[in-house]
Amino acid sequence: MIKLNEFLSASRDYESGQVVLSLGKAQAASNDPRRIQVTRNVFLLPPCLIRHACDPNTQIDWGSLQLKASRCIHDGALITYHYGTSEYDYTIGSFKCDCGSRRCIGYFRGFKYMTSAQRNVIIDKASPYIRDCVLKG
Ligand SMILES: [Zn+2]
Repeated sequence: MIKLNEFLSASRDYESGQVVLSLGKAQAASNDPRRIQVTRNVFLLPPCLIRHACDPNTQIDWGSLQLKASRCIHDGALITYHYGTSEYDYTIGSFKCDCGSRRCIGYFRGFKYMTSAQRNVIIDKASPYIRDCVLKG
């Protein structure tokens, strides 16, 4: 079990749109729950653990592979992004979300298993790979 204090938190204030973290080029194994899926076969191992939230304060810029603030983030706040934007099938690391958002998806197992209403909230932030999976049904 990963402890809360092992997840990335802000070490300063950020404004919406600012880069919080570069995801880097380190590769992760497909069965590593710390992975961030970029394409069908490419999984990145981010330089630190990033917590999931259903109403997160960052999102991945898929062009630059950077985590960017999607709203103001204050120094000390937990950095979060929606795992559904990167993980199509996350059966290897599925978990019950307790983020507290009124839009919380509850049990998370990957974009593939989300309802269409849940998908619609994040589809514009999802990876090109996930959007391709959706198009192909
Ligand atoms: Zn949640």
